[in-house]
Amino acid sequence: MGMEECVFCRIVRGEIPATVVHQDELAVAFRDVRPQAPTHVLVVPRRHVASLAETTGEDAPLLGHLLALAAELARRLGLASGYRVVVNTGPQGGQTVPHLHLHLLGGRAMAWPPG
Ligand code: 5GP
Ligand code: ZN
Repeated sequence: MGMEECVFCRIVRGEIPATVVHQDELAVAFRDVRPQAPTHVLVVPRRHVASLAETTGEDAPLLGHLLALAAELARRLGLASGYRVVVNTGPQGGQTVPHLHLHLLGGRAMAWPPG
């Protein structure tokens, strides 16, 4: 799939509406359209990266930025009693949108192991 059709690239470009909670030069964070918890935010790089499996050590600054941003948003969104950050990767990992994204989930107790 090209960057033209990629749903998260389209959200980053503002072509599809989303409830954006943060944007900066590297990343955009917005509410998941089908929330799985009271707070469910997706943190995505502006640059199209298909999945975590496509990243290497060269992407460490970007990956660090995304993870630190998830923590910052958790603080800002009041998830003081805890939260979960998930990166579904590949078909067996449950990834459905082929643009790297961190799920920030909170506002309820999380079960373990995940399904
Ligand atoms: P995955 O299953 O790939 O880990 O997560 C993809 C997530 O993107 C799902 O939780 C799904 O609800 C969300 N999603 C898919 N399309 C859209 C959209 O157009 N807008 C928003 N805000 N979220 C979307
Ligand atoms: Zn994309």
